[in-house]
Amino acid sequence: MKITSATFLTSAPDLEGCPELQLPEFAFIGRSNVGKSSLLNMLTGKKGLAKVSGSPGHTRLINFFTINGRWTLVDLPGYGYAKISKQAREKFQEMIADFMVNRENLSCVFALIDARLSPQQSDLEFVRWLMEGGVPFVLVFTKSDKLKASKIEKNIAAFTDAMSEWCDGLPRIFTSSAKTGSGRQDLLTFIGQAIG
Ligand code: GDP
Repeated sequence: MKITSATFLTSAPDLEGCPELQLPEFAFIGRSNVGKSSLLNMLTGKKGLAKVSGSPGHTRLINFFTINGRWTLVDLPGYGYAKISKQAREKFQEMIADFMVNRENLSCVFALIDARLSPQQSDLEFVRWLMEGGVPFVLVFTKSDKLKASKIEKNIAAFTDAMSEWCDGLPRIFTSSAKTGSGRQDLLTFIGQAIG
């Protein structure tokens, strides 16, 4: 798929505040600093589309972008903020969960994982939650330029091994680099096929 237009539509604090749209939606989420903003900018070819390393306050909204007038890219807030209170964190996670479970036109969630790291408990818990909640998702291992292919394979295998304890079959797995653009075509082709 070629990106011909990518424009910011609106932001919403929760599911209730989300716009009523007919277009299929593809949502991106991961722990803060996973490289989500960089990936969104790389995918759309628009440098300033998502704010790289934006302040946590600013990134606690659900951001919608219309792509090619045909689908909606949803930038979900990062999970796992250490700096907010437990109560605030729980409320915030409820808001994201509500969106992913109840958003009617949500086609797929792209769960971003830092390829450099061994499996992180918070990522595994999140992915398990997606699976058990019946949310359609794929995994994207980010920052692949930062390490050797063999090391990436090792980290992915460790992650999928840990998943296999509670998961029959595995989701689609992608790797990406915002720096080199690797993975871009694979992700866009996947979205293109999903929207038909
Ligand atoms: P976010 O918090 O998930 O939106 O992450 P950002 O996109 O702001 O990226 C966090 C940091 O990782 C920034 O310093 C980026 O420049 C860096 N980064 C993000 N993606 C990549 C990548 O693919 N390769 C490399 N080398 N650095 C990356």
